[in-house]
Amino acid sequence: MTIKVADDAGITAAADRLRSGHVVAFPTETVYGLGADATQDDAVSKVFSIKGRPAVNPLIVHVADPSWLEHLAVSDDRIAALADTFWPGPLTLVLKRRSDCPASKQVSANLDTIAVRQPDHPVAAALLLAVDRPLAAPSANPSGHVSPTTAQHVETDLGDALDMILDGGPCRAGLESTVLDLTTEPARILRPGVVDADAIANVIGKIDEHDTTAGLISSPGQLEKHYAPSLPLRLNADTAREGEAYIAFRGALNAACDLSPHGDLAEAASNLFAALRELDDPARFNGIAVSPIPREGIGQAINDRLRRAAKGR
Ligand code: AMP
Ligand code: MG
Repeated sequence: MTIKVADDAGITAAADRLRSGHVVAFPTETVYGLGADATQDDAVSKVFSIKGRPAVNPLIVHVADPSWLEHLAVSDDRIAALADTFWPGPLTLVLKRRSDCPASKQVSANLDTIAVRQPDHPVAAALLLAVDRPLAAPSANPSGHVSPTTAQHVETDLGDALDMILDGGPCRAGLESTVLDLTTEPARILRPGVVDADAIANVIGKIDEHDTTAGLISSPGQLEKHYAPSLPLRLNADTAREGEAYIAFRGALNAACDLSPHGDLAEAASNLFAALRELDDPARFNGIAVSPIPREGIGQAINDRLRRAAKGR
């Protein structure tokens, strides 16, 4: 396995691997993605097997430009305004597949819908242009575990199963995209993420918001425990108990880590997964306790990830 710096030579080498049906991990602004040519069945299969991802959980397809949608999805009045406002960026749109959509049916888990986004990262953008095909790219971690925000996280998790990781440094946003289903009226948030519901509603009017407390989520793959470290996670904790590592927000005594000493939710989101990984160490701690995080803006998505990481414990 090689980690390649994401310069021109690295991107060209990665594009060659992808075009010949191999899987390459690459950075996006959200988390590192496990990339495969979305039009090749065998390549897409490898992504499912490397991640241990259930075949019923569809993948997000990444495009270099909104114009690529024409080949993939049935048009919808709301797409142009959303793409104008949020693309490139961390908003994934679930759309009806075209009957002649060239993407593998596996990326859609055999549904008649396809999830698409244009990533806002220079390496992802250059790679898409070099491959000149849509790339399926779920987070580059074993299914159910904490998502990777650095090339080293990917190497630790999947190094043995991959032959190339493109290293573009740490991910800026550090939390996954918002998934918005446009196959319903009103549109519906299937997964809260970096783009918050109010910002979307400002562009297309009323949407159905995902209720992060109900646990009644119908998107495939949303029901399972996810984003989970191996140590037990205790949420909304004001202090640590004996043996626990404490993750603070906006300052605390004896914290093992502070997601944002000044209380900036975007900064907290970008630090969350690295903190969970670093403190997930049974040799040092018997559990991880996390401070309450305000449920505003991207705080909704942070709370969603924490709730699912703690599920079933
Ligand atoms: P990941 O690829 O790990 O970022 O996860 C992608 C998320 O998008 C998962 O929660 C999927 O269930 C969701 N998703 C992808 N494609 C579809 C689709 N066609 N319909 C509904 N949800 C989808
Ligand atoms: Mg994931």
